Amino acid sequence: MCATISFEFLVEKIIQMGYTNPMGVRVRFAPSPTGFFSLGNARTALFNWLFARHEGGEFLLRIEDTDKERSTKEFEEDVLAGLRWIGLNWDGGITRQSERLNLYEKYLKKLLLEHKAYHCFCTQEELEAEYQGFLSQGLIPKYSGKCKYLSADEAKQKLDSGTKSVIRIMMPEKTVSFPDIIRGKVEFKTELFGDIIIAKGLTIPLYNFSVVVDDYESNITHVIRGEDHLSNTPKQMMIQETLGFPPVHYAHLPLILGPDRKKLSKRYAAASLNEFKREGYVPEAMINFLALLGWHPERDREVLSCDELISEFSLKRVQKASAVFNEEKLNWLNSHYLKNMNTNNFIEALKPFVPGEWLDKKDTLKKALPLVCERIGKLAEFKTEGEYFFKQPEYKKEILCWKETSFEQTAKNLNDILEKIKEISAKPFTKKLVHDAISPLSDSRGRGEIFWPFRVALSGREASPGPTEISEVLGKTETLNRISLALQKIETSGAMV
Ligand code: GLU
Repeated sequence: MCATISFEFLVEKIIQMGYTNPMGVRVRFAPSPTGFFSLGNARTALFNWLFARHEGGEFLLRIEDTDKERSTKEFEEDVLAGLRWIGLNWDGGITRQSERLNLYEKYLKKLLLEHKAYHCFCTQEELEAEYQGFLSQGLIPKYSGKCKYLSADEAKQKLDSGTKSVIRIMMPEKTVSFPDIIRGKVEFKTELFGDIIIAKGLTIPLYNFSVVVDDYESNITHVIRGEDHLSNTPKQMMIQETLGFPPVHYAHLPLILGPDRKKLSKRYAAASLNEFKREGYVPEAMINFLALLGWHPERDREVLSCDELISEFSLKRVQKASAVFNEEKLNWLNSHYLKNMNTNNFIEALKPFVPGEWLDKKDTLKKALPLVCERIGKLAEFKTEGEYFFKQPEYKKEILCWKETSFEQTAKNLNDILEKIKEISAKPFTKKLVHDAISPLSDSRGRGEIFWPFRVALSGREASPGPTEISEVLGKTETLNRISLALQKIETSGAMV
């Protein structure tokens, strides 16, 4: 005779097995397309993906779209676009829950047949009255289980007459404990739940039920998801047990908080990952940044390539404490990746962010890149930060004057700079040549007197890369042209009178 294997035994066994599951690691990312692909969801997807790739396992994608009213194709598209943008490729096709309703129906029928689930006909009012009854006795409200005592005939009659019903599972009453890979031992008493609703009808399964069926059908070994799902886990484990499915490993990822350690502001919590793309973050920076939201490598390094992340990722190094979203760090990482990008890739990435005619000026663009790059956190800033390389700047003549220097002296200084630069005949026109040409002026009159108006004449700004560097990008003709324009600005406005 075959001995019955208890669920506890299986839990024990699966803990002992660790990651050495003979099937190999199989994880899934299971978004509900009821909102944009948020930062939190992207982090969940990434940790699943990194874990699978590190373990040489499989990363599956399942769209949990049984909530017909709230799920939309637009949100699904947003998730897929986000995954593709940061390169989280999934194995096999996409599973959509809405396309496998007959699978859930099969398991619901099985449970009903085995009297492990039952139809509940209680109305909202009846349930409310029951809950109030529990509360008035100081008890936690839950369903009393009333309908489980209906005879088969009574239940059939109600169903036949079209009485509204839901399907509840008989919840075993026990203490469920499981070893969360991140949080350690977690315990829940299932008696607090009562018989939970697992479907609103044979073809309308609810989240906790469909998740369990799908994870089993896809041979999922590890469920890695946000901490907000922690209270669903014991319910899902009880559904597994009732269905006779083996348990899986769980890892609940820490919350992501704002820099003030309070709930992440809506701007970031509800924003789509694709919004970050539109602002000009690059996927390498985004992945690096997301990976550090709750995980850190040995020796606390901050800059890690995707390959390094894959090779070093471990759920054991995911922290229990909440992760903090730090926009400055994201900008810093993005600027790091921008600075290290090869020129052609950079120009390609820049395309959506700058006017077409800038892209046609390839030489200027290539030379300006490293200078602008130093000063931007994201690609969208390139347009304002780098504008003066591509068109003559507009500025107020007053900023041409260094500190208390008069317009007259400023004009004299600019004029002398102009003459010195005119004398440069060597080619190519480099910043070193420019520097050598005007240094004697700056030595005798002071750095600010010479370099300040020179900078403003070229960039129209009080803060920019050094004027010699800008002049190398602009070339001799345009450099002279801009100094002349600055002189005209002073002279024609009558500032010297
Ligand atoms: N569909 C759930 C969500 O988007 C995730 C379910 C799970 O990972 O188990 O939050």
